[in-house]
Order: sequence, then structure tokens, then C-alpha cells
Amino acid sequence: MTQEYIEIRGARENNLKDVSLRIPKRKITIFTGVSGSGKSSIVFDTIAAESQRLLNENFSMFVRTFLPRLPQPDVDAIENLSMAVIVDQKRLGGGAHSTVGTITDISPILRLLFSRVGQPYVGPANMFSFNNPQGMCPECNGTGRRLCVDLSKALDMSKSLNEGAILLPGYTVNSMDWTMLVQSGPFDPDKKLSDYSDEELEQLLYGKARKVATQFGGKTVNITVEGCIEKFTNKYIKRDVKTYSERTQQAVAPYISEGPCPSCRGARLSQAALNCRINGLNIAEMSSMEVGQLIRVIREIDDPVAAPVVKALTERLQHLVDIGLDYLTLDRETDTLSGGESQRVKMVKHLSGSLVDVTYIFDEPSVGLHPRDVHRLNGLLQKLRDKGNTVIVVEHDPDVIKVADHIIDVGPHAGSRGGTIVYEGNFQGLLEAGTLTGIHMKRPLQLKHDYRQPSGKLSIKDATLHNLRNVSVDIPTGVLTVVTGVSGSGKSTLIHEVFLSQHPDAIVIDQSAVGVSTRSNPATYTGIMDDVRKAFASANKVNPGLFSFNSKGACENCQGLGVVYTDLAFLDSVKLPCEVCGGRRFKEEVLAYKLNGKSIADVLEMTVEQALDFFQLIQLKEVVRKLQAMSDVGLNYMTLGQPLSTLSGGECQRIKLASELHKKGSIYVMDEPTTGLHMSDIGHLLGIINRLVDAGNTVIVIEHNLDVISQADWIIDMGPDGGSKGGQVVFEGTPAQIIHAEQSITGRYLMHALN
Ligand code: ADP
Ligand code: ADP
Ligand code: ZN
Ligand code: ZN
Repeated sequence: MTQEYIEIRGARENNLKDVSLRIPKRKITIFTGVSGSGKSSIVFDTIAAESQRLLNENFSMFVRTFLPRLPQPDVDAIENLSMAVIVDQKRLGGGAHSTVGTITDISPILRLLFSRVGQPYVGPANMFSFNNPQGMCPECNGTGRRLCVDLSKALDMSKSLNEGAILLPGYTVNSMDWTMLVQSGPFDPDKKLSDYSDEELEQLLYGKARKVATQFGGKTVNITVEGCIEKFTNKYIKRDVKTYSERTQQAVAPYISEGPCPSCRGARLSQAALNCRINGLNIAEMSSMEVGQLIRVIREIDDPVAAPVVKALTERLQHLVDIGLDYLTLDRETDTLSGGESQRVKMVKHLSGSLVDVTYIFDEPSVGLHPRDVHRLNGLLQKLRDKGNTVIVVEHDPDVIKVADHIIDVGPHAGSRGGTIVYEGNFQGLLEAGTLTGIHMKRPLQLKHDYRQPSGKLSIKDATLHNLRNVSVDIPTGVLTVVTGVSGSGKSTLIHEVFLSQHPDAIVIDQSAVGVSTRSNPATYTGIMDDVRKAFASANKVNPGLFSFNSKGACENCQGLGVVYTDLAFLDSVKLPCEVCGGRRFKEEVLAYKLNGKSIADVLEMTVEQALDFFQLIQLKEVVRKLQAMSDVGLNYMTLGQPLSTLSGGECQRIKLASELHKKGSIYVMDEPTTGLHMSDIGHLLGIINRLVDAGNTVIVIEHNLDVISQADWIIDMGPDGGSKGGQVVFEGTPAQIIHAEQSITGRYLMHALN
């Protein structure tokens, strides 16, 4: 069969310099190159954008009149393109009803299995779905959670009733509710609650409404009394608390917490569904097992009726195992997954699908993967290819680059100094090509030997959360500590959840989105925009407010966004450039005001590098300092006005780093800061981190990248494996020590990379 290609001629999006290239079909092509060189401009803004546009053209004329006319990417021609599917790192939202099982389509198959061979037989597969009225627990509507009274806040067990043991609003000593409750039973008002018998407590807290005769104001009256927790629950939890005044809502809120639903105990399903079992396990129990264990349980089901369903299930579960996600459970809510985990979960869905001749586009799929697991990812990319698909991957990891059938190296540098293709061909050729990528792939790893001495330590004691069991570990201060370990070993749990809950003053630099409004951009986020507005105002003797996107100076058609969003019922919303301002965001009269010959829109179109030159010339010192920080973290190529919503996770992380760089004596926590960085950018990043540490800061980095690990002063390695097989500290020490630590998988891979 002759090789076919996707042909791209004359691409000019963003910084692309009339680029032409060919991507072999049904092969794995990897795009690499420094950050900002133009990889995304080719892959996402040209190839994926054109595919989406072609897709819209497939609709009938009638439907198309409802669709926006997507602008053609700036390219002379693209030939031979098939439908593109983008599998990216966007977190999977979706709330409590979206889980690993639902998103991978594994849960429907598991339900089918229960409806075929579960005992006792209960009914259709819907019976086992918490998203379906037939299957959901009626108490919690399938969320598995319910609001309840927080007993630790509601009661002081060390006190008696007379001492005010009931802390709930309305139960102060001698108040009406208090008096009625105390007189309603054989309660000793001077006995500590902790000395009450179980029956007494049950009556006091949960007693159902009952009529009792009591003395009140000198008369005997019949009143209805119920336990204090029961009453509070009926009054404020079973009813919509929003129907009360805001003051009441605020008064009761501290006593209410969210806990597992008492009826289904968090399993989300009706009792009928939970009573149905296969080999002793119900569907909720199976869904809460780690995938690696579940697959063994499913394989043991030996019933000819179930055979085809068992086969389909094990095939899909195996995909999760293959990609290093064996530590996840099917009931894990997708909004708790990391970006890298989200991308791999989405990948599994596609592997099981039956589409062929699709162009799959991945954005750094190795993010979050330990070097040990990268070969599994490679295996899945190959599997997608072997099903007859074209696989395009943007990636920096040398171990992924190695499996490419074809490599396209974009460069030579970032922004205007990039935008060309500096190498196309196979891996061997790349090593000899003399490009930045080629040079760095050949350069051997160096171990650090001159370790800094810690100034003290921060202790974590007996941490028990997720898979951590009584973990105690010291983090040295004043040095660079790298936390390593395979995916799911417990790094994020240890650092983000345990350590940060004890040190809330730490500066966290992660990959979560920055900027709250659609108008945010690097200039507004870093505070540069305020100084720029003032400079424009004083140069033109007008109000600084004119130069804000939210002001009267903004284009009225797009409200200063530069684009107009159109929402579509059955597709993602699309954005089109504003027809009035042409994307320049301001009114004509505002654009007429100049600062050193440039309008406010001209300034927002400058890259950090260009802006540095411009503001140095007019000596805006504070702006220059902030721009320099952005340049230092490798964002030279970014324009000041680029909407923050278009930034990748790695870019978000670096822009946060830039705006936090000048703080001193602090604790910094970073989560995979090398995300999105080319090997040659990592040296830069390490330079910044080292400067932070040398200035007296403590830096803690979660990282899989061996270049970073090799430069640590101290390593904390979690493991030995993921999920229930992890959760321990397997090694603490220096890089030189870890390579000899037998129990450390990370040490083994570091050793391997040194040779
Ligand atoms: P890479 O994917 O290699 O990191 P990109 O293709 O994202 O690089 O960026 C290449 C150049 O195009 C950079 O100078 C970048 O600032 C610019 N660029 C990318 N996206 C946009 C955009 N939406 N608007 C303006 N400039 C952009
Ligand atoms: P790492 O950061 O090393 O990849 P994590 O700390 O994310 O590991 O995960 C450790 C274990 O805790 C895994 O078994 C994971 O599935 C589990 N886990 C992590 N976050 C949650 C969560 N929000 N809910 C339930 N389990 C979780
Ligand atoms: Zn329930
Ligand atoms: Zn406009």
C-alpha cells in the first residue's frame, strides 16, 4: 500500500512562516520544539481547526444556516484530512454524576452484567444506574451524599445539659426548646453527656416526636417534643434551608455538614440494586474496587450467559490498567482527577471505540506519568495507530519521541524567532540534526553533588488520607525537595492535601486556570495593565479608565472581548472575531491616543519580548520588572493581550510563578512545573528554582522529569506502587543515594538514564 499523507501548504497562523509539511497517515507523528515555537499553531490552530470547519460543512444547507461560519485557518491548502478528535488535558468536569466508569462507558457494561447474571434477578440494566430514576437511591437522588448535622459541632459531650452541652441554636440553657426537651424524658440534667447510656442518648438526640405532659408557667400542658438532632434535621435539613432568612441560614450553616447518605451509605443505588450480587459482590462494591483488582474479579465470573459481557468488560478495564490507571476506581468522580489522568481516561474511551481513519490529536499525554509507565502510554498510541488511525502528538518526553514513526521539530526558537520546521524525519536523524531538540536528546544526564544544607525541617506526622497510612516524613527547609513516585503513589495527597492543610501560607504554583473573567490576560493578571493605563492617561491627559476593557472606551459590540461567542445547542460554543473592532477591543477614538507612537491595542498585541524593549525605552520600571519575570520563566513569546482562557496548564503555572517570584522567605509548592516545557526550557526553569532557593526559600516540587530529579537537594520517593499498593515513603535522601536504593522505582529509572 502506498503511503498517504495529510498535506499542509502555506500555513501562517500566529507565528508560522508559510510552513508546508506532510504528515503520514496511519502513523504516529510527534511535534516537538521549544515552548512558543509554533507546535500548537500547526496542530490545533491549523489542522484541528480545519477539521472542525469541514465537519460543519458536512451538515445540510438547512442545518448550516444555524451554524456559525467558522473562519478558515490561515493556510493555502490542507489535503487528505480526516475527522480529528482532540484528546486534551482539560479536566473532566461533570459533578457527582460523572465518574471514571461513566466517562469510559465501562459502567453501562457492568450494569448489563448485573442484569444478566446477578442474583437474585432484579430487572433491566437501568436498575443499576444511579443516573436513572429506576436505580437511584431515593434518599439522596443518586448522589450518595446527604446533608446531616455535624455532631462534633452540635454537642459538647464533656458537659451536662445544665452546663450547656447542646450547642445547637435555640438550645441555650433555660430556653423554651431546652426546657421542653429536658423535661420530656428521664434525663439527669447534671450528668455529662459522655456518661449517658446509649438509650438515653438516642432519646435525647434522635427521639421521634411524641406528646408529653409537662409543667410550663405553673400549668400542666401537653406538648410535642422530639430529640434535638431530629428536630434540627427536620427543621433545617429536610426542608430547603433557602426558605429561611439569610440570618437563620448563616446561624445554622456551621452545624450542617455533608456526609454519606445513610440509606445507601454512599453507594448511590436503590436497596433492590444493592441486594443483587455476583459472586458475593454487589455493583457498588465492584465500582469501589481498584481497577487492577476488579479485572481479576470479573475474570472469575464463569457463566456462559455472561461471557460476551465479561469479554467486553475485561478488554476495557485492561486498557485502564495498560495506561497506568489501575489504581483508580470506577466510582471515582472525574472532577477529582488530575489533568494527566483526565487525558488518559479520555484516551481509554477512544481505544474501545470502533472509529477508524480518525486523526487523533494528543497534547503532552505523558504529563503525570512516571518514566516507568511511559512505555504503556506508547503502547496505547501504537494500538490506536494499528487500528488504522493517524496519531498526532505534541510531546517533549524523549521516551515518547523515540516511538514516533515521524518527528516534526518546530523552531528554531519561540515566537517570531520560531515558526519554521527545523527537522522532519525519524529518530536517528533527529539525533544528528543539530536542532535544540536533537542536541538535548543526546546530552547525558548529570547528577547534582553539591547539596545545600537544610536550615530546618517541616514535619508531617501520621498522615492518613486516601492511600496514605500513618505517613510521617520531614521536609527540609531552605533547599529544593523533589517529591517523586509512580502515578497514584500518593504524591499529591501528601503535598496538596496533607502538607498544605498544615501550611496554608505556602505559595502554590500549580496548573489550574488563572484569571476569573474572559477579559483577563497576562497584562491584567500581572498588574502591568494598571501602570500601562496610567502611562497612556498621563501622556494624553485623559482618564485612565478609558483604556480598560470594562469601560466606556471598550468596543460596544463585543464589550471589549474582541470576539463574539455564539452558543450552539449541540456543539461547543464558537467564537468569532468582532466585526466592529476587528478584534482590537477598543473604540476608534481610544485607539487614537498613543504612547510613544503605539495605541493601547498595539501594546496588547506585543509579545513580552517586544514589550520589554518598548517599556525599557520609556523607562516604566515596575512594568519592566514584571515583564522580566515573565521572560525569566520562558514566556517571552506570549502576547500581553492573549486571553488567559487560551493558556495551557503549563503556561498558567509559569505565569503564576512569574508573579510570585519576588517573595522571600516563603514555602513554594509546584506541581510538575516542566509541563509544556521543552528539554531546553527546563534548564531555564531550574535556574529560576535555584535562584528562589538561594534567596532563602523552601521549594517543594512534585515532578517526574529526570532532569529536575537529578538536580534535587533532597528526594522524597513515594511508592512502592500506585493506589493501595502505594502510600508509603520508600526513600528519603539525595540523588546520589537514590540510584542505589533498591526499593525505589524512581532510583532505578534515574540510574538507567545516567547510562
Ligand atoms: P507551542 O505550541 O510550540 O508552545 P504556539 O503555537 O502556542 O507554540 O505559539 C506560537 C506563537 O504564536 C507564540 O509566539 C504565541 O505567543 C503565539 N500565539 C499562540 N496562540 C496565540 C493566540 N491565540 N493569539 C495570539 N498569538 C498566539
Ligand atoms: P499521585 O499524586 O502520586 O499520582 P494521588 O495522591 O493523586 O497520587 O493518589 C493517591 C491515591 O489516592 C490513589 O489511589 C488515588 O486514586 C487516590 N485519590 C486521590 N485523590 C482522591 C480523591 N479525591 N478521592 C478518592 N481517592 C483519591
Ligand atoms: Zn443514598
Ligand atoms: Zn469589538
